[in-house]
Amino acid sequence: MLKIVTIPNPILNKKTELVKKIDSEILSLIPEMIETCRKANGIGIAAPQIGQSIRLCIINLEHLGLDPFALVNPKITKKSWKKIEMEEGCLSIPGVFGIVRRPGKIKVLTQDTQGQTISFEADGLLARVIQHEIDHLDGILFTSKMIKKTGAKKTLPRPEKFTPPKFEVM
Ligand code: ZN
Repeated sequence: MLKIVTIPNPILNKKTELVKKIDSEILSLIPEMIETCRKANGIGIAAPQIGQSIRLCIINLEHLGLDPFALVNPKITKKSWKKIEMEEGCLSIPGVFGIVRRPGKIKVLTQDTQGQTISFEADGLLARVIQHEIDHLDGILFTSKMIKKTGAKKTLPRPEKFTPPKFEVM
């Protein structure tokens, strides 16, 4: 398991660098990040959270039946006008949970681990985690967007309805 960086480490407030090449170092880092996220009971983790200032993050919605996957150099290309409120927490800010308002639906353009450019739409919890993780890549923490603090949660969020993403190779 990798060591998770917590606040106030300045790496968490820094904009990250593009991943220029998906080399063996990146490829070995990805499963370690997945394992770290899983062990920490998280649903996503971004590279700065394990001390690497690069545009790479992991989404782990395994509890909803979706295999963990990596986003390399991800970008949000579309955001719904409609915003929704949802509770968030962060492995780098232990014990803090709160409500954040974000677009409910997004479109993502990213590279996968083979370097292919893929695009997909996300809503619900998936759209939420991706926006939280991409914020990390820009040095933004959810607490700066939090509109209300809530109590600590011990279970993973389980939405009533979950639509798995359809990955489309561009
Ligand atoms: Zn976080």
